[in-house]
Amino acid sequence: MVSIERFVRVKSLAEAYELNQERMNTVLGGFMWLKMGNRKIENAIDLSGLSLDTIEETGEEFSIGCMCSLRTLELHEGLHHAFQGVIREAVHHIVGVQFRNGATVGGSVYGRFGFSDVLTCLLALDCYVELYKGGIVPLHEFATMKSDNDILVRIHIKKDGRKASYQSQRITRTDFPIIAAAAAKKDNTLFISIGARPGKASLLIKDDCLLDENSADDEIAALAEWARDQYKYGSDIRAGQEYRRHLAFVYVKRALQEILRGVTA
Ligand SMILES: Cc1cc2nc3c(=O)[nH]c(=O)nc-3n(C[C@H](O)[C@H](O)[C@H](O)COP(=O)(O)OP(=O)(O)OC[C@H]3O[C@@H](n4cnc5c(N)ncnc54)[C@H](O)[C@@H]3O)c2cc1C
Repeated sequence: MVSIERFVRVKSLAEAYELNQERMNTVLGGFMWLKMGNRKIENAIDLSGLSLDTIEETGEEFSIGCMCSLRTLELHEGLHHAFQGVIREAVHHIVGVQFRNGATVGGSVYGRFGFSDVLTCLLALDCYVELYKGGIVPLHEFATMKSDNDILVRIHIKKDGRKASYQSQRITRTDFPIIAAAAAKKDNTLFISIGARPGKASLLIKDDCLLDENSADDEIAALAEWARDQYKYGSDIRAGQEYRRHLAFVYVKRALQEILRGVTA
Protein backbone atom coordinates (compact mmCIF):
# COMPACT_ATOMS: atom_id res chain seq x y z
CA MET A 1 0.00 0.00 0.00
CA VAL A 2 1.14 3.57 -0.63
CA SER A 3 0.57 6.11 2.12
CA ILE A 4 0.88 9.84 1.55
CA GLU A 5 1.42 12.21 4.44
CA ARG A 6 0.95 15.50 2.60
CA PHE A 7 -0.41 16.34 -0.81
CA VAL A 8 1.23 19.47 -2.26
CA ARG A 9 -0.33 21.12 -5.30
CA VAL A 10 2.70 23.14 -6.38
CA LYS A 11 2.47 26.65 -7.84
CA SER A 12 5.64 26.47 -9.91
CA LEU A 13 8.13 24.03 -11.41
CA ALA A 14 10.81 25.52 -9.15
CA GLU A 15 8.76 24.52 -6.10
CA ALA A 16 8.21 21.04 -7.53
CA TYR A 17 11.92 20.61 -8.25
CA GLU A 18 12.95 21.76 -4.80
CA LEU A 19 10.52 19.41 -3.06
CA ASN A 20 11.57 16.53 -5.31
CA GLN A 21 15.16 16.72 -4.04
CA GLU A 22 14.05 15.08 -0.76
CA ARG A 23 14.16 11.28 -0.84
CA MET A 24 10.75 10.83 0.83
CA ASN A 25 8.97 13.14 -1.64
CA THR A 26 7.63 12.01 -5.02
CA VAL A 27 6.20 13.63 -8.12
CA LEU A 28 2.76 12.33 -9.08
CA GLY A 29 1.73 11.81 -12.67
CA GLY A 30 -1.65 10.12 -12.87
CA PHE A 31 -0.68 7.93 -9.84
CA MET A 32 -1.76 4.81 -11.75
CA TRP A 33 1.60 3.05 -11.54
CA LEU A 34 2.78 4.52 -8.24
CA LYS A 35 -0.32 3.34 -6.40
CA MET A 36 0.53 -0.28 -7.24
CA GLY A 37 3.66 0.00 -5.06
CA ASN A 38 4.29 -0.23 -1.39
CA ARG A 39 5.87 2.86 0.11
CA LYS A 40 5.50 5.88 2.31
CA ILE A 41 5.51 9.31 0.62
CA GLU A 42 5.98 12.38 2.79
CA ASN A 43 5.09 15.03 0.21
CA ALA A 44 3.26 13.95 -2.92
CA ILE A 45 4.07 16.59 -5.52
CA ASP A 46 1.06 17.33 -7.69
CA LEU A 47 1.77 19.20 -10.94
CA SER A 48 -1.87 19.50 -12.00
CA GLY A 49 -2.05 23.24 -11.29
CA LEU A 50 0.68 24.13 -13.79
CA SER A 51 -1.33 23.93 -17.03
CA LEU A 52 0.83 21.10 -18.35
CA ASP A 53 -2.05 18.92 -19.54
CA THR A 54 -2.32 20.12 -23.13
CA ILE A 55 -0.81 19.44 -26.56
CA GLU A 56 0.38 22.44 -28.52
CA GLU A 57 1.01 22.17 -32.24
CA THR A 58 3.19 24.51 -34.29
CA GLY A 59 4.53 24.21 -37.82
CA GLU A 60 7.63 22.42 -36.52
CA GLU A 61 6.52 20.27 -33.61
CA PHE A 62 4.04 18.99 -31.07
CA SER A 63 4.73 20.07 -27.50
CA ILE A 64 3.03 17.74 -25.02
CA GLY A 65 2.75 18.70 -21.34
CA CYS A 66 3.76 16.02 -18.83
CA MET A 67 0.26 15.97 -17.27
CA CYS A 68 -1.41 15.32 -20.63
CA SER A 69 -3.34 12.05 -20.31
CA LEU A 70 -2.75 9.07 -22.58
CA ARG A 71 -6.37 9.47 -23.70
CA THR A 72 -5.70 13.06 -24.85
CA LEU A 73 -2.68 11.77 -26.76
CA GLU A 74 -4.79 9.04 -28.33
CA LEU A 75 -7.53 11.42 -29.49
CA HIS A 76 -5.35 14.23 -30.83
CA GLU A 77 -6.13 14.65 -34.52
CA GLY A 78 -2.92 16.54 -35.36
CA LEU A 79 -0.72 13.77 -33.95
CA HIS A 80 -2.86 11.17 -35.63
CA HIS A 81 -2.42 12.68 -39.07
CA ALA A 82 1.22 13.70 -38.71
CA PHE A 83 2.38 10.18 -37.83
CA GLN A 84 -0.10 7.92 -39.62
CA GLY A 85 -1.95 6.98 -36.44
CA VAL A 86 1.05 5.30 -34.73
CA ILE A 87 0.54 7.03 -31.40
CA ARG A 88 -3.14 6.07 -31.27
CA GLU A 89 -2.20 2.51 -32.21
CA ALA A 90 0.44 2.37 -29.46
CA VAL A 91 -1.78 3.79 -26.74
CA HIS A 92 -5.26 2.40 -27.34
CA HIS A 93 -4.39 -1.09 -26.07
CA ILE A 94 -3.39 0.20 -22.64
CA VAL A 95 -5.91 -1.15 -20.11
CA GLY A 96 -9.06 0.88 -20.91
CA VAL A 97 -10.41 4.37 -21.56
CA GLN A 98 -10.91 5.17 -17.87
CA PHE A 99 -7.30 4.18 -17.14
CA ARG A 100 -5.94 6.19 -20.06
CA ASN A 101 -7.87 9.24 -18.81
CA GLY A 102 -5.74 9.02 -15.65
CA ALA A 103 -2.29 7.85 -16.77
CA THR A 104 -0.06 10.69 -17.97
CA VAL A 105 2.53 11.10 -20.70
CA GLY A 106 5.05 12.36 -18.10
CA GLY A 107 4.65 9.31 -15.85
CA SER A 108 4.81 6.97 -18.84
CA VAL A 109 8.01 8.43 -20.27
CA TYR A 110 9.69 9.18 -16.94
CA GLY A 111 9.04 5.59 -15.82
CA ARG A 112 11.03 4.14 -18.77
CA PHE A 113 9.16 0.87 -18.27
CA GLY A 114 10.38 -2.21 -20.16
CA PHE A 115 6.82 -2.98 -21.28
CA SER A 116 6.11 0.57 -22.41
CA ASP A 117 4.17 0.98 -25.64
CA VAL A 118 4.55 4.74 -25.24
CA LEU A 119 8.37 4.67 -25.04
CA THR A 120 8.69 2.13 -27.86
CA CYS A 121 6.54 4.24 -30.16
CA LEU A 122 8.04 7.65 -29.35
CA LEU A 123 11.60 6.37 -29.81
CA ALA A 124 10.98 5.84 -33.51
CA LEU A 125 9.92 9.50 -33.89
CA ASP A 126 12.10 12.59 -33.61
CA CYS A 127 11.27 13.02 -29.95
CA TYR A 128 12.85 15.03 -27.10
CA VAL A 129 12.28 15.26 -23.38
CA GLU A 130 12.27 18.69 -21.70
CA LEU A 131 13.61 18.46 -18.15
CA TYR A 132 13.35 21.33 -15.65
CA LYS A 133 17.08 21.26 -14.79
CA GLY A 134 18.49 19.00 -17.50
CA GLY A 135 17.06 20.94 -20.46
CA ILE A 136 16.17 19.28 -23.74
CA VAL A 137 17.46 15.74 -24.14
CA PRO A 138 16.82 13.37 -27.09
CA LEU A 139 14.43 10.65 -25.93
CA HIS A 140 16.85 7.86 -26.90
CA GLU A 141 19.42 9.36 -24.49
CA PHE A 142 16.86 9.94 -21.76
CA ALA A 143 15.78 6.29 -22.08
CA THR A 144 19.28 5.16 -21.06
CA MET A 145 19.73 7.70 -18.24
CA LYS A 146 19.29 6.64 -14.62
CA SER A 147 16.25 8.00 -12.75
CA ASP A 148 17.12 11.20 -10.91
CA ASN A 149 15.21 13.96 -9.16
CA ASP A 150 14.54 16.18 -12.15
CA ILE A 151 11.05 17.07 -13.36
CA LEU A 152 9.94 16.03 -16.80
CA VAL A 153 8.10 19.09 -18.09
CA ARG A 154 7.19 18.34 -21.69
CA ILE A 155 7.77 15.99 -24.60
CA HIS A 156 8.54 17.49 -28.01
CA ILE A 157 7.92 15.58 -31.22
CA LYS A 158 9.31 17.17 -34.37
CA LYS A 159 7.24 17.13 -37.52
CA ASP A 160 10.07 15.90 -39.72
CA GLY A 161 7.88 14.04 -42.18
CA ARG A 162 8.92 10.52 -41.25
CA LYS A 163 6.48 7.73 -42.06
CA ALA A 164 5.88 5.43 -39.13
CA SER A 165 4.22 2.19 -38.06
CA TYR A 166 3.57 0.64 -34.63
CA GLN A 167 2.97 -3.05 -33.92
CA SER A 168 2.51 -5.04 -30.72
CA GLN A 169 1.25 -8.36 -29.47
CA ARG A 170 -0.53 -9.19 -26.20
CA ILE A 171 -1.77 -12.48 -24.82
CA THR A 172 -5.07 -10.85 -23.95
CA ARG A 173 -6.38 -7.53 -25.13
CA THR A 174 -5.55 -5.27 -22.19
CA ASP A 175 -2.48 -7.10 -20.88
CA PHE A 176 1.10 -5.79 -21.12
CA PRO A 177 2.64 -6.35 -24.56
CA ILE A 178 4.89 -9.39 -25.03
CA ILE A 179 6.61 -7.55 -27.86
CA ALA A 180 6.30 -3.98 -29.12
CA ALA A 181 7.92 -2.66 -32.30
CA ALA A 182 7.95 0.71 -34.01
CA ALA A 183 9.62 1.68 -37.26
CA ALA A 184 9.85 4.98 -39.08
CA LYS A 185 11.53 6.10 -42.29
CA LYS A 186 12.75 9.49 -43.47
CA ASP A 187 14.54 9.61 -46.81
CA ASN A 188 17.05 6.72 -46.59
CA THR A 189 17.18 6.62 -42.80
CA LEU A 190 15.30 4.00 -40.87
CA PHE A 191 14.46 4.29 -37.15
CA ILE A 192 13.52 1.08 -35.37
CA SER A 193 12.59 0.50 -31.76
CA ILE A 194 11.76 -2.83 -30.13
CA GLY A 195 10.45 -2.96 -26.57
CA ALA A 196 8.83 -5.42 -24.15
CA ARG A 197 11.61 -7.91 -24.94
CA PRO A 198 10.92 -7.78 -21.92
CA GLY A 199 13.73 -5.21 -21.61
CA LYS A 200 13.24 -1.51 -22.24
CA ALA A 201 12.96 -0.25 -25.80
CA SER A 202 16.00 1.31 -27.44
CA LEU A 203 16.55 3.02 -30.76
CA LEU A 204 18.30 1.49 -33.76
CA ILE A 205 19.19 3.79 -36.68
CA LYS A 206 20.08 2.56 -40.16
CA ASP A 207 21.32 5.30 -42.47
CA ASP A 208 21.67 3.57 -45.81
CA CYS A 209 18.26 1.98 -46.21
CA LEU A 210 17.51 1.69 -49.93
CA LEU A 211 14.19 -0.12 -49.54
CA ASP A 212 11.16 1.44 -51.22
CA GLU A 213 7.62 0.48 -52.20
CA ASN A 214 8.99 -1.79 -54.97
CA SER A 215 11.33 -3.76 -52.71
CA ALA A 216 10.81 -7.51 -52.66
CA ASP A 217 9.46 -9.32 -49.59
CA ASP A 218 12.77 -11.14 -49.02
CA GLU A 219 14.68 -7.82 -48.95
CA ILE A 220 12.27 -6.50 -46.33
CA ALA A 221 12.54 -9.78 -44.39
CA ALA A 222 16.36 -9.60 -44.48
CA LEU A 223 16.28 -6.12 -42.95
CA ALA A 224 13.78 -7.25 -40.29
CA GLU A 225 16.09 -10.17 -39.44
CA TRP A 226 19.02 -7.82 -39.14
CA ALA A 227 17.05 -5.48 -36.84
CA ARG A 228 15.83 -8.40 -34.72
CA ASP A 229 19.44 -9.55 -34.21
CA GLN A 230 20.56 -6.18 -32.85
CA TYR A 231 18.51 -6.74 -29.66
CA LYS A 232 18.62 -9.12 -26.71
CA TYR A 233 15.46 -11.01 -25.69
CA GLY A 234 14.45 -12.62 -22.44
CA SER A 235 11.79 -14.80 -20.83
CA ASP A 236 9.22 -13.95 -18.18
CA ILE A 237 5.79 -15.23 -17.13
CA ARG A 238 4.22 -13.93 -20.35
CA ALA A 239 6.55 -15.27 -23.06
CA GLY A 240 9.81 -17.10 -23.68
CA GLN A 241 12.97 -15.66 -25.21
CA GLU A 242 12.75 -17.55 -28.52
CA TYR A 243 9.09 -16.66 -29.01
CA ARG A 244 9.82 -12.97 -28.41
CA ARG A 245 12.73 -13.12 -30.84
CA HIS A 246 10.47 -14.60 -33.49
CA LEU A 247 7.74 -12.03 -32.83
CA ALA A 248 10.29 -9.21 -33.11
CA PHE A 249 11.10 -10.35 -36.65
CA VAL A 250 7.42 -10.70 -37.62
CA TYR A 251 6.40 -7.29 -36.31
CA VAL A 252 9.40 -5.35 -37.59
CA LYS A 253 8.72 -6.87 -41.01
CA ARG A 254 5.07 -5.85 -40.82
CA ALA A 255 6.03 -2.35 -39.71
CA LEU A 256 8.43 -2.03 -42.66
CA GLN A 257 5.80 -3.30 -45.09
CA GLU A 258 3.34 -0.78 -43.75
CA ILE A 259 5.78 2.11 -44.07
CA LEU A 260 6.94 1.14 -47.57
CA ARG A 261 3.69 0.00 -49.12
CA GLY A 262 0.98 1.22 -46.81
CA VAL A 263 -0.20 -2.35 -46.13
CA THR A 264 0.66 -5.13 -43.71
CA ALA A 265 0.83 -8.72 -44.95
C1 LIG B 1 -2.19 -2.22 -14.44
C2 LIG B 1 -1.35 -1.41 -15.39
C3 LIG B 1 -1.24 -1.83 -16.71
C4 LIG B 1 -0.44 -1.11 -17.61
N1 LIG B 1 -0.33 -1.54 -18.90
C5 LIG B 1 0.46 -0.85 -19.76
C6 LIG B 1 0.63 -1.27 -21.11
O1 LIG B 1 0.10 -2.27 -21.55
N2 LIG B 1 1.43 -0.51 -21.91
C7 LIG B 1 2.06 0.62 -21.47
O2 LIG B 1 2.77 1.25 -22.24
N3 LIG B 1 1.90 1.05 -20.21
C8 LIG B 1 1.12 0.34 -19.34
N4 LIG B 1 1.01 0.76 -18.05
C9 LIG B 1 1.74 1.98 -17.64
C10 LIG B 1 0.84 3.21 -17.76
O3 LIG B 1 0.46 3.39 -19.09
C11 LIG B 1 1.57 4.47 -17.30
O4 LIG B 1 2.75 4.58 -18.03
C12 LIG B 1 1.91 4.41 -15.84
O5 LIG B 1 0.73 4.25 -15.10
C13 LIG B 1 2.65 5.69 -15.39
O6 LIG B 1 1.88 6.81 -15.64
P1 LIG B 1 1.22 7.64 -14.45
O7 LIG B 1 0.72 8.92 -15.01
O8 LIG B 1 0.24 6.79 -13.72
O9 LIG B 1 2.51 7.93 -13.54
P2 LIG B 1 2.71 7.75 -11.97
O10 LIG B 1 2.35 6.38 -11.54
O11 LIG B 1 2.07 8.87 -11.25
O12 LIG B 1 4.31 7.97 -11.92
C14 LIG B 1 5.19 7.02 -12.48
C15 LIG B 1 6.64 7.45 -12.17
O13 LIG B 1 6.97 8.63 -12.87
C16 LIG B 1 7.30 9.70 -11.96
N5 LIG B 1 6.77 10.91 -12.58
C17 LIG B 1 5.50 11.11 -13.00
N6 LIG B 1 5.42 12.30 -13.64
C18 LIG B 1 6.65 12.87 -13.57
C19 LIG B 1 7.20 14.10 -14.05
N7 LIG B 1 6.47 14.99 -14.73
N8 LIG B 1 8.52 14.34 -13.80
C20 LIG B 1 9.29 13.45 -13.13
N9 LIG B 1 8.81 12.27 -12.66
C21 LIG B 1 7.51 11.98 -12.90
C22 LIG B 1 6.68 9.31 -10.63
O14 LIG B 1 7.35 9.89 -9.53
C23 LIG B 1 6.85 7.79 -10.68
O15 LIG B 1 8.16 7.44 -10.35
C24 LIG B 1 0.23 0.06 -17.15
C25 LIG B 1 0.12 0.47 -15.82
C26 LIG B 1 -0.68 -0.24 -14.93
C27 LIG B 1 -0.80 0.24 -13.52
